[in-house]
Amino acid sequence: MKLLVVPVLCLIFFVSLFSYAENVKDGFRDQERQLLREMSVLNRRLLDQEISQRFDLLEEVARRLVIDDDRDVAKTAVALSFYDERYSFKRMGIALPDGRAFTSEGLVFSVADRSYFKKSLMGETVVSQKMTDKIGGEDIIVFSTPVYSDGQVSAALFATYSLEGFREITSIDMFSGQGYSYVVRSNGDCVVDSGHEGSFPEMENILDSMRAADGANAQAADTLEAMMAQGASGQLEYMGSVSNDMYFEPLMANDWYLLSIVPSHVLGGVLQRVVAWTAVLGGVLMAVFSVLVLLVVYVDYQKRKALQRFLYVDPLTGAASYAKFCMEARKCLDRHSGKWAFVAMDLHQFKLVNTLFGPEKGDATLQFVSREWERTLGKDEVFGRRHGDNFEVLMRYETVDELCRRLDGFCYRIVNERPPMHQNEVFLILPVMGIYLVRDFSEDILDLQNNARLACSTIKERNDVYYAFFNNEMKEKQLHDKRLGDDMELAIENNEFMVYYQPKVDPVDSKVVGAEALIRWRRPDGSFVPPSVFIPLAEHNGLISELDRFMFRQVCRQQRQWRGDGYGLVPVSVNLSRVLLYSQSLPEEYARILEENGIPFENIQLEITESEDCENMEFIAGAVQRFHDYGFRILMDDFGTGYSSMVALKALPIDVVKLDKSFIDDYKSEKGRKILISMIKLAQMLDMEITAEGVETEEQVEFMKMTGCHNIQGYYFSRPLPGEEFEKLLMARPCASVIIK
Ligand code: C2E
Ligand code: CA
Ligand code: CA
Repeated sequence: MKLLVVPVLCLIFFVSLFSYAENVKDGFRDQERQLLREMSVLNRRLLDQEISQRFDLLEEVARRLVIDDDRDVAKTAVALSFYDERYSFKRMGIALPDGRAFTSEGLVFSVADRSYFKKSLMGETVVSQKMTDKIGGEDIIVFSTPVYSDGQVSAALFATYSLEGFREITSIDMFSGQGYSYVVRSNGDCVVDSGHEGSFPEMENILDSMRAADGANAQAADTLEAMMAQGASGQLEYMGSVSNDMYFEPLMANDWYLLSIVPSHVLGGVLQRVVAWTAVLGGVLMAVFSVLVLLVVYVDYQKRKALQRFLYVDPLTGAASYAKFCMEARKCLDRHSGKWAFVAMDLHQFKLVNTLFGPEKGDATLQFVSREWERTLGKDEVFGRRHGDNFEVLMRYETVDELCRRLDGFCYRIVNERPPMHQNEVFLILPVMGIYLVRDFSEDILDLQNNARLACSTIKERNDVYYAFFNNEMKEKQLHDKRLGDDMELAIENNEFMVYYQPKVDPVDSKVVGAEALIRWRRPDGSFVPPSVFIPLAEHNGLISELDRFMFRQVCRQQRQWRGDGYGLVPVSVNLSRVLLYSQSLPEEYARILEENGIPFENIQLEITESEDCENMEFIAGAVQRFHDYGFRILMDDFGTGYSSMVALKALPIDVVKLDKSFIDDYKSEKGRKILISMIKLAQMLDMEITAEGVETEEQVEFMKMTGCHNIQGYYFSRPLPGEEFEKLLMARPCASVIIK
């Protein structure tokens, strides 16, 4: 659109320039005519002056002449030759009333037939029309004045000009020699023609010559003829060898007219040069202007493109940005045709790729995934990256089977065709996708996305399936979880949460040596909500820190009570959620609670799980260290399940490691046993206490006993018990051994 500005402006500019040039041209024409008129008037005055000077001269000489007899006349005439040279006369002469003319050259001939002679005898001072010289046959003009003797005209004094001589008087330089003039009679007959190269050669009559030169001159010739007949002056244009401008005005003598002529192009040339320069200047200005406009448009275009790239293109993968994806997805659905599936995709534990192999490999992974989507999708399907490893896709499908086949193909390639940078890594890149089959074209993209994400969240923790389709139960569960989350706050106030204790037992003598405090939520109807359901919710809505604090306070109170009741205390471990580690003041707060209840630090262990977040390891290590510095014993829960067990082992001040149930379960396999034994050895070498978790069978107990594991927690000995039941075990200590089924 903006590019149109340039041609439109150019057009406007050139139209303006053209009309400006036309105006200038008109102005110039006027000026040029004015100039021609002024030049002509000047010339006419000069000519009139020349003629009247000659009249004056003749009259002056005539006054002095005394005509007595013929001989004297002849002599006097010869004496007049003095003026010939001075005034470029061809000759002077005195004509007697009988017509005999005595000339300055000493010749005698008759001028009786000449009208100037007749007029002068009548007392007029005149200049003749062009005529042929009686001597030599040359074209001449004759000035003539009466000579008086005793008040009577006794002769005529005349001066003859060759036409050539007279032309010199009339030819006045105009327009640097480009203009010229004629003297003609009012009927157009030529008196003095012009030797100028542009003039009509051997012109007899200007009107005839004009008409003969060009048919188009007819009107101009008629006008000239009519105006000269009226004695008027004026201006016109006519065609000779070139186009000419003419100014005509009457002279004082006879019916003579002075025609001043200049070829139109002489002034037009100036005009053309001005117009040409104006055009060149205009062109240059226009070019500069166009370049500037183009530059502005180009810069604007580049900016727009950069902005669009910024807004619409994901700089890392080159895929569509989230905004662009939403726009394109909307367009697809607005076509109201076909069946569509909205896919929300993440990579399983993608954060770890960054953490373990560095951000470069993380980026390469995302680029690889983006390329695979490009390979998978048709041209009317769209995908974009939202952030991190979040991709969103809108796919067409015919049948769900066919859609699954395409997604299977995609997943296969993601898992098996690793990006080049990952060729040598053991780490598997696993996609996790949620799919929502679009039901209605008018559904909001945000809803499609939420549904697909919800489906995706149901398999987040699994690595055996790559995608899940959205169904209504998921939505119901989400609502249920939401309600549960809302209920949780009330539940805290209503004391629905309580502490259960699961004993830790020495495998050698089966005596209780400790316990883990595990939270229980009993609804008013007596049903229990399992921790696996509400703990993730509490972690999500932030209530976990309240629950953990509640547990800690309860355990301390309980310990104080047992102590007051005279029971032998055993260390109780309390779970400490990861978020609590970010609270700077918690170690102090917990230490104060312990103190208030008079419980020694050895009686409390804090169970923390190893972090997958190696980047934050330093921070976590600092937090754990603060607890440890206060005197708390630190227990590493679920040891061996994370990817960074060794890093955690090295970085954190751990007192106890709790082997995860999955290792205990594996004790039957040779490899499993070897791993277990090595882990226990490692802990022993690091002077750490070892607890085995999830021990369910006697064989497992026997095996753990053999390995030198310090204590065992598991259903084999006891399920988690309410406080009062665990109390009974404490009561029986130190003699009774436990196996509560
Ligand atoms: P966890 O900390 O690993 O706790 C051990 C879980 O294993 C407990 O489940 C326990 O009942 C179960 N368990 C113990 N022995 C056996 C066995 O022999 N076989 C089997 N199958 N399971 C056994 P529970 O009480 O359902 O707690 C589940 C998880 O909830 C806990 O895992 C812990 O992560 C979380 N949790 C429980 N109470 C709290 C708490 O007060 N605070 C926090 N932050 N998390 C808690
Ligand atoms: Ca635990
Ligand atoms: Ca555990």
